[in-house]
This record gives sequence, structure tokens and C-alpha cells, in this order.
Amino acid sequence: MWPWGHAATGYLLYAAYTRLRYDRPPDGPATLLLLFGTQLPDLIDKPLAWTLLVLPSGRSLGHSLLLLVPLVLIAAVVVRNRDTEWAIALAVGALSHAIVDVLPAALRGEFAYTTSLVWPLLPPPPYDEQGRTIIGQFLSLEPTPMLTFELVLALVAVAVWWRQGRPGIDTIRAVVVARDG
Ligand SMILES: [Zn+2]
Repeated sequence: MWPWGHAATGYLLYAAYTRLRYDRPPDGPATLLLLFGTQLPDLIDKPLAWTLLVLPSGRSLGHSLLLLVPLVLIAAVVVRNRDTEWAIALAVGALSHAIVDVLPAALRGEFAYTTSLVWPLLPPPPYDEQGRTIIGQFLSLEPTPMLTFELVLALVAVAVWWRQGRPGIDTIRAVVVARDG
């Protein structure tokens, strides 16, 4: 899945959660942490695997529950006295990314492509990643049904986010003003 697909999935899941639990939209800081979480697995794995060649796959360490679950628990302890919602937002973002990445393969019964969830206990998914680069990945974008689906999903998520008062914008503005002031 592409970055916008992960961002959209994470936002829609988290917005549903805050609606059910608190009957309100996500707040600003939680939305920003959520977005960070939705990109975190690829921010860890793609540069380390494709640019620095220190990981065996672009879906390994950052996509593994063996890293993500402890990371989320540490985040929960760190923010405990401030707002547990922040840790939940990060968890929804990062875990939804790792799970959504393997979902199509799991539904097809191709479990060799779901091993990123428990790397390094199992070898990484057998994708041919020889010579892949981050820029090359974006240049290889092709109009597939999956790409269309992800773009529609992103549009739906942006529409929901807009209707919910664009949470996160005020937080960014406050940080910028505080820094300039
Ligand atoms: Zn990924």
C-alpha cells in the first residue's frame, strides 16, 4: 500500500474509534501522531533496506509486531501522565500499517508474504527487492485497480477529516507560531 493509503486507513480507523468511544472527532496532536504512526514502518524499513542495505527487506524490522508492540507500550508509558490517546493514536497508525500490508496476501492464503509481522523469527517476505530505491518505487507508479482504490480511500479520508474540522492543522499552526515567537 502507498503512503496515502496507509494514512487514509489509519485516519478512518482512528476517527471511528474516537467517535465510538468519546463521540467526538480526533484531536490535533493525536491526529499528527496517528499520521506519523501510519508511515513509521516504511520510514524505518525502506531507507534501511533499500538505501543503506542493513535490513534484508523493505518489510522487516519496522513492519514487525516484535518491534511495534514494545514501541507502542514504551510510548504509552512515556505519555501516561499527559494523554493516553496519543499512544493509542500512534498504535492505531503503526499497527494498521503493518497489518494492512499483509492483508491481501493473507486473504489469498499466501502466508509466506505475511512473515514481516514476526520478523526476525521468520524470514522476510520473498519479494524481489534487488536494486529497489525509494524514488524508483514512486516512479514505477502504475494505474492499477489497487492504486485507484487507495486514491478513492484517500479522498474519502480527506473528506471526513475536512468535515471533522481538519484536526492537526491548528496544532501545526500553534507549533509554528510558538517557534517564530
Ligand atoms: Zn509498509
